[in-house]
Amino acid sequence: MSLLEIRNLSVRFGDADAPPVVDALDLSVEQGEVLAIVGESGSGKSVTMLALMGLIDPPGRITAECLQFAGQDLLRLHGRQRRRLIGKELAMIFQDPMTALNPSYTVGYQIEEVLHQHMNLKGQAARRRALDLLERVEIPAAASRLNAYPHQLSGGMNQRVAIAMAIAAEPRLLIADEPTTALDVTIQAQIMDLLLDLQRDQGMALILITHDLAVVAETAQRVCVMYAGQVVETGRVPDLFDAPTHPYTEALLASIP
Ligand code: ADP
Ligand code: MG
Repeated sequence: MSLLEIRNLSVRFGDADAPPVVDALDLSVEQGEVLAIVGESGSGKSVTMLALMGLIDPPGRITAECLQFAGQDLLRLHGRQRRRLIGKELAMIFQDPMTALNPSYTVGYQIEEVLHQHMNLKGQAARRRALDLLERVEIPAAASRLNAYPHQLSGGMNQRVAIAMAIAAEPRLLIADEPTTALDVTIQAQIMDLLLDLQRDQGMALILITHDLAVVAETAQRVCVMYAGQVVETGRVPDLFDAPTHPYTEALLASIP
Protein backbone atom coordinates (compact mmCIF):
# COMPACT_ATOMS: atom_id res chain seq x y z
CA MET A 1 0.00 0.00 0.00
CA SER A 2 1.15 3.53 -0.77
CA LEU A 3 2.28 5.83 2.05
CA LEU A 4 -0.31 8.37 0.91
CA GLU A 5 -3.39 7.46 -1.05
CA ILE A 6 -5.87 10.06 -2.21
CA ARG A 7 -8.92 9.09 -4.23
CA ASN A 8 -11.63 11.38 -5.45
CA LEU A 9 -10.76 14.33 -3.22
CA SER A 10 -12.83 17.47 -3.72
CA VAL A 11 -12.64 20.74 -1.83
CA ARG A 12 -15.30 23.44 -2.11
CA PHE A 13 -15.60 26.91 -0.70
CA GLY A 14 -18.76 29.01 -0.71
CA ASP A 15 -22.14 27.91 -2.02
CA ALA A 16 -23.07 24.30 -2.54
CA ASP A 17 -23.20 24.93 -6.28
CA ALA A 18 -19.83 26.73 -6.38
CA PRO A 19 -17.36 24.82 -8.54
CA PRO A 20 -14.87 22.80 -6.49
CA VAL A 21 -11.34 24.26 -6.32
CA VAL A 22 -10.02 20.71 -6.01
CA ASP A 23 -12.04 18.42 -8.21
CA ALA A 24 -12.08 14.62 -7.95
CA LEU A 25 -8.35 14.43 -7.41
CA ASP A 26 -6.41 11.14 -7.27
CA LEU A 27 -2.82 11.04 -6.06
CA SER A 28 -0.50 8.59 -4.35
CA VAL A 29 2.94 8.85 -2.82
CA GLU A 30 5.21 5.90 -2.17
CA GLN A 31 7.53 5.51 0.81
CA GLY A 32 10.72 7.51 0.26
CA GLU A 33 9.87 8.96 -3.14
CA VAL A 34 10.10 12.55 -4.35
CA LEU A 35 6.89 13.55 -6.10
CA ALA A 36 6.83 16.97 -7.74
CA ILE A 37 3.58 18.83 -8.26
CA VAL A 38 3.47 21.56 -10.86
CA GLY A 39 0.58 23.68 -12.06
CA GLU A 40 -0.30 27.30 -12.62
CA SER A 41 -1.28 29.60 -9.79
CA GLY A 42 -4.75 28.87 -8.49
CA SER A 43 -4.83 25.30 -9.78
CA GLY A 44 -5.45 23.89 -6.30
CA LYS A 45 -1.99 22.67 -5.28
CA SER A 46 -1.91 24.35 -1.88
CA VAL A 47 -5.54 23.63 -1.06
CA THR A 48 -4.92 19.93 -1.72
CA MET A 49 -2.00 19.93 0.73
CA LEU A 50 -3.91 21.95 3.33
CA ALA A 51 -6.72 19.39 3.10
CA LEU A 52 -4.23 16.63 3.94
CA MET A 53 -2.92 18.58 6.91
CA GLY A 54 -6.43 19.20 8.23
CA LEU A 55 -6.04 22.92 7.65
CA ILE A 56 -9.17 23.63 5.63
CA ASP A 57 -11.54 25.34 8.01
CA PRO A 58 -15.28 25.72 7.46
CA PRO A 59 -16.89 27.00 5.30
CA GLY A 60 -14.41 24.97 3.23
CA ARG A 61 -15.74 21.46 2.66
CA ILE A 62 -13.79 18.31 1.90
CA THR A 63 -15.14 15.11 0.43
CA ALA A 64 -13.08 12.08 -0.48
CA GLU A 65 -13.49 8.43 -1.23
CA CYS A 66 -10.08 7.78 0.34
CA LEU A 67 -7.63 10.00 2.17
CA GLN A 68 -5.20 7.57 3.74
CA PHE A 69 -1.78 8.19 5.16
CA ALA A 70 0.34 5.39 6.64
CA GLY A 71 -2.72 3.17 6.57
CA GLN A 72 -4.86 5.61 8.55
CA ASP A 73 -7.93 7.45 7.35
CA LEU A 74 -7.11 11.15 7.79
CA LEU A 75 -10.78 12.14 7.72
CA ARG A 76 -11.69 9.86 10.61
CA LEU A 77 -8.84 10.69 12.95
CA HIS A 78 -9.47 13.07 15.79
CA GLY A 79 -7.80 14.51 18.86
CA ARG A 80 -4.61 12.93 20.09
CA GLN A 81 -4.47 10.26 17.39
CA ARG A 82 -4.69 12.92 14.75
CA ARG A 83 -2.01 15.10 16.36
CA ARG A 84 0.24 12.07 16.64
CA LEU A 85 0.07 11.63 12.88
CA ILE A 86 -0.15 15.18 11.58
CA GLY A 87 2.83 17.28 12.54
CA LYS A 88 4.81 14.17 13.34
CA GLU A 89 4.54 11.61 10.55
CA LEU A 90 3.24 14.19 8.11
CA ALA A 91 4.86 17.62 8.13
CA MET A 92 4.68 20.67 5.90
CA ILE A 93 6.73 23.71 5.09
CA PHE A 94 5.27 26.74 3.39
CA GLN A 95 6.31 29.43 0.96
CA ASP A 96 6.47 31.93 3.82
CA PRO A 97 8.52 30.53 6.71
CA MET A 98 6.51 32.67 9.14
CA THR A 99 3.47 30.47 8.46
CA ALA A 100 5.22 27.85 10.58
CA LEU A 101 7.05 30.13 13.00
CA ASN A 102 5.71 32.17 15.88
CA PRO A 103 7.29 35.64 16.02
CA SER A 104 6.94 35.77 19.83
CA TYR A 105 9.19 32.81 20.67
CA THR A 106 12.86 32.07 20.11
CA VAL A 107 13.66 29.54 17.43
CA GLY A 108 15.23 27.25 20.04
CA TYR A 109 12.02 27.25 22.07
CA GLN A 110 9.90 26.49 19.02
CA ILE A 111 12.03 23.53 17.96
CA GLU A 112 12.10 22.25 21.55
CA GLU A 113 8.29 22.42 21.65
CA VAL A 114 8.10 20.08 18.64
CA LEU A 115 10.63 17.76 20.28
CA HIS A 116 8.64 17.79 23.50
CA GLN A 117 5.30 17.20 21.87
CA HIS A 118 6.33 14.52 19.39
CA MET A 119 9.60 13.01 20.59
CA ASN A 120 9.07 13.23 24.34
CA LEU A 121 12.31 15.18 24.80
CA LYS A 122 12.64 17.83 27.50
CA GLY A 123 15.20 20.09 29.15
CA GLN A 124 18.84 19.58 28.24
CA ALA A 125 18.09 16.67 25.89
CA ALA A 126 15.67 18.81 23.89
CA ARG A 127 18.14 21.71 23.88
CA ARG A 128 20.93 19.50 22.55
CA ARG A 129 18.70 18.01 19.88
CA ALA A 130 17.48 21.48 18.85
CA LEU A 131 21.10 22.53 18.41
CA ASP A 132 21.82 19.38 16.35
CA LEU A 133 18.88 20.25 14.14
CA LEU A 134 19.99 23.85 13.61
CA GLU A 135 23.41 22.53 12.67
CA ARG A 136 21.81 19.95 10.38
CA VAL A 137 19.99 22.70 8.48
CA GLU A 138 23.31 24.55 8.25
CA ILE A 139 22.46 27.65 10.22
CA PRO A 140 25.72 29.49 10.81
CA ALA A 141 26.62 30.01 14.48
CA ALA A 142 23.79 27.66 15.39
CA ALA A 143 24.41 27.76 19.15
CA SER A 144 23.89 31.50 19.33
CA ARG A 145 20.78 31.31 17.13
CA LEU A 146 18.87 29.15 19.59
CA ASN A 147 18.00 32.31 21.48
CA ALA A 148 17.19 34.39 18.41
CA TYR A 149 13.69 35.50 17.51
CA PRO A 150 12.54 35.01 13.93
CA HIS A 151 12.69 38.76 13.20
CA GLN A 152 16.42 38.67 13.98
CA LEU A 153 17.05 36.14 11.20
CA SER A 154 16.94 36.44 7.42
CA GLY A 155 14.13 34.87 5.37
CA GLY A 156 16.46 32.08 4.27
CA MET A 157 17.51 31.33 7.83
CA ASN A 158 13.90 31.31 9.00
CA GLN A 159 13.08 28.84 6.24
CA ARG A 160 15.94 26.68 7.53
CA VAL A 161 14.42 26.90 11.01
CA ALA A 162 11.02 25.93 9.59
CA ILE A 163 12.68 22.93 7.93
CA ALA A 164 14.38 22.01 11.22
CA MET A 165 10.97 22.11 12.95
CA ALA A 166 9.37 20.05 10.21
CA ILE A 167 12.01 17.30 10.38
CA ALA A 168 12.39 17.40 14.19
CA ALA A 169 9.79 14.67 14.59
CA GLU A 170 11.27 12.58 11.75
CA PRO A 171 8.26 12.64 9.46
CA ARG A 172 7.65 9.95 6.87
CA LEU A 173 6.30 12.50 4.43
CA LEU A 174 7.31 16.13 4.13
CA ILE A 175 5.24 18.48 2.01
CA ALA A 176 7.19 21.47 0.71
CA ASP A 177 4.85 24.02 -0.87
CA GLU A 178 7.01 26.33 -3.01
CA PRO A 179 9.61 26.43 -0.23
CA THR A 180 12.01 28.77 -2.05
CA THR A 181 9.63 31.05 -3.96
CA ALA A 182 9.72 33.79 -1.33
CA LEU A 183 13.50 33.68 -0.85
CA ASP A 184 16.38 35.51 -2.50
CA VAL A 185 17.36 33.89 -5.76
CA THR A 186 20.90 33.45 -4.47
CA ILE A 187 19.82 31.10 -1.69
CA GLN A 188 17.03 29.20 -3.44
CA ALA A 189 19.36 26.48 -4.69
CA GLN A 190 20.98 26.09 -1.26
CA ILE A 191 17.63 25.53 0.42
CA MET A 192 16.59 23.06 -2.29
CA ASP A 193 19.88 21.16 -1.92
CA LEU A 194 19.36 21.02 1.83
CA LEU A 195 15.84 19.65 1.46
CA LEU A 196 16.99 16.93 -0.91
CA ASP A 197 19.92 16.01 1.33
CA LEU A 198 17.54 15.60 4.24
CA GLN A 199 15.12 13.62 2.12
CA ARG A 200 17.86 11.17 1.17
CA ASP A 201 19.41 10.96 4.66
CA GLN A 202 16.13 10.37 6.42
CA GLY A 203 14.58 8.27 3.67
CA MET A 204 11.43 10.36 3.93
CA ALA A 205 9.02 10.90 1.08
CA LEU A 206 8.79 14.44 -0.25
CA ILE A 207 6.01 16.22 -2.09
CA LEU A 208 7.65 19.18 -3.73
CA ILE A 209 5.41 21.88 -5.17
CA THR A 210 7.47 24.05 -7.47
CA HIS A 211 7.39 26.09 -10.65
CA ASP A 212 10.97 25.18 -11.45
CA LEU A 213 10.99 22.41 -14.03
CA ALA A 214 14.79 22.15 -13.88
CA VAL A 215 14.47 21.27 -10.18
CA VAL A 216 11.75 18.75 -11.04
CA ALA A 217 13.93 17.10 -13.67
CA GLU A 218 16.87 16.89 -11.28
CA THR A 219 15.12 15.74 -8.16
CA ALA A 220 11.76 14.06 -8.61
CA GLN A 221 10.99 10.49 -9.57
CA ARG A 222 7.45 11.33 -10.56
CA VAL A 223 5.63 14.50 -11.43
CA CYS A 224 1.97 15.36 -11.19
CA VAL A 225 0.53 18.19 -13.26
CA MET A 226 -2.48 20.08 -11.90
CA TYR A 227 -4.79 22.29 -13.88
CA ALA A 228 -8.05 23.90 -12.71
CA GLY A 229 -8.32 21.74 -9.60
CA GLN A 230 -7.58 18.47 -11.33
CA VAL A 231 -4.61 16.24 -11.85
CA VAL A 232 -4.32 16.26 -15.62
CA GLU A 233 -1.36 13.92 -15.80
CA THR A 234 1.03 12.00 -13.59
CA GLY A 235 4.05 10.03 -14.61
CA ARG A 236 7.72 9.28 -14.29
CA VAL A 237 9.66 12.46 -14.89
CA PRO A 238 11.56 11.47 -18.06
CA ASP A 239 8.45 9.91 -19.63
CA LEU A 240 6.25 12.89 -18.94
CA PHE A 241 8.88 15.42 -20.01
CA ASP A 242 9.52 13.51 -23.25
CA ALA A 243 5.91 12.93 -24.15
CA PRO A 244 3.44 15.22 -22.38
CA THR A 245 -0.18 14.42 -23.15
CA HIS A 246 -2.06 17.42 -21.77
CA PRO A 247 -1.96 20.79 -23.58
CA TYR A 248 -1.08 22.59 -20.33
CA THR A 249 1.94 20.32 -19.80
CA GLU A 250 3.00 20.87 -23.40
CA ALA A 251 2.74 24.63 -22.96
CA LEU A 252 4.65 24.45 -19.68
CA LEU A 253 7.49 22.47 -21.23
CA ALA A 254 7.55 24.72 -24.28
CA SER A 255 8.04 27.72 -22.00
CA ILE A 256 11.48 26.51 -20.87
CA PRO A 257 14.11 28.47 -22.73
P1 ADP B 1 -2.24 27.06 -6.01
O1 ADP B 1 -2.25 25.98 -7.04
O2 ADP B 1 -1.70 28.34 -6.56
O3 ADP B 1 -1.58 26.65 -4.73
P2 ADP B 1 -4.56 27.25 -4.32
O4 ADP B 1 -4.67 25.82 -3.93
O5 ADP B 1 -3.99 28.18 -3.32
O6 ADP B 1 -3.78 27.36 -5.70
O7 ADP B 1 -6.00 27.82 -4.69
C1 ADP B 1 -6.90 27.16 -5.54
C2 ADP B 1 -8.17 27.96 -5.64
O8 ADP B 1 -8.87 27.94 -4.41
C3 ADP B 1 -7.94 29.43 -5.98
O9 ADP B 1 -8.91 29.84 -6.92
C4 ADP B 1 -8.13 30.12 -4.67
O10 ADP B 1 -8.59 31.42 -4.85
C5 ADP B 1 -9.17 29.25 -3.99
N1 ADP B 1 -9.08 29.28 -2.51
C6 ADP B 1 -8.02 28.92 -1.78
N2 ADP B 1 -8.26 29.06 -0.46
C7 ADP B 1 -9.52 29.56 -0.37
C8 ADP B 1 -10.37 29.92 0.73
N3 ADP B 1 -9.97 29.79 2.00
N4 ADP B 1 -11.61 30.38 0.42
C9 ADP B 1 -12.03 30.48 -0.84
N5 ADP B 1 -11.30 30.15 -1.92
C10 ADP B 1 -10.05 29.70 -1.70
MG1 MG C 1 -0.02 27.56 -3.69
